[in-house]
Amino acid sequence: MIRIVVASGKGGTGKTTVATSLALALDTSNILFLDCDVEAPNAHLFLRPAFEWRQEVGILLPEVDETRCTFCGRCAEVCQFHAIAVIGQNTLVFPELCHGCGSCTLICPENAISESLNVMGLLEAGPTPTGIRFARGIMNVGEPMAVPIIRQLKRWAPTNGWTSDVEAVIVDASPGTSCPVVETAHGADFALLVTEPTPFGLHDLRLMVEVVRDLGIPAGVIINRDGIGNAQVDEFCTEAELPILMRIPLDRQVAQGIAQGKPLVHIRPDYVEPFRQLYTRIRDLVQEKDG
Ligand code: SF4
Ligand code: SF4
Repeated sequence: MIRIVVASGKGGTGKTTVATSLALALDTSNILFLDCDVEAPNAHLFLRPAFEWRQEVGILLPEVDETRCTFCGRCAEVCQFHAIAVIGQNTLVFPELCHGCGSCTLICPENAISESLNVMGLLEAGPTPTGIRFARGIMNVGEPMAVPIIRQLKRWAPTNGWTSDVEAVIVDASPGTSCPVVETAHGADFALLVTEPTPFGLHDLRLMVEVVRDLGIPAGVIINRDGIGNAQVDEFCTEAELPILMRIPLDRQVAQGIAQGKPLVHIRPDYVEPFRQLYTRIRDLVQEKDG
């Protein structure tokens, strides 16, 4: 099984266009697609899954029984996030800071802490009309942390009776380079970085390359809207020894089709073969690295 994360340093570069078309171009019954852009998932608009499984998702928040608490302060000492504090004869939990790690519950010598699920969002999964196994997370409005939802989506999605013959997991990350993207990319075999040949595209690509190199993930680049901007992205890729795996020229027909919710490979079926070749190249690059 190969896990490919599709990422971009900023929104609007065509990341979801690439991820969904890659999935559609392959033998779709063996593909698991994860939409990890939990703040604004939109891959379903292109892949049109029928959701069959749902599960609430969140973190376990500590609750302190002050009749048992001796205010020893050990829970506050162990909390890396300053989410629990002992002030005089009060032990206070700050839910917005809590990561649900459970350390305070484990360390409490009086068993004064219990845990309750704080629902932060929803996981959904189901097949698409062409048989792609699709799963996504949706974060509730106002929640401060996407990472726990992404982490649980990655664990939960393959458990829906789908694990046995998955050949490739294609993961659509959220835009940017912050913690949700790091969590999404963690464990991937390859990062497909989608950019555009503009100064903004170059700036965000540089940041994204730092992230995946810190994580030790091999990467390649897709230049979307090729033909606009300048050659600086090409020059950077050469310097950084990053392979440019595909170019998608700016095309008015494609832009209009995508705005109507059509996948790139449906608007332009001549892209099916290049996406298949892209997958083969990624597999070869991963094997070379493992090799
Ligand atoms: S570790 Fe337990 S007993 Fe000590 S302050 Fe925290 S909740 Fe109270
Ligand atoms: S669960 Fe973890 S993050 Fe939350 S208060 Fe306890 S130790 Fe801190």
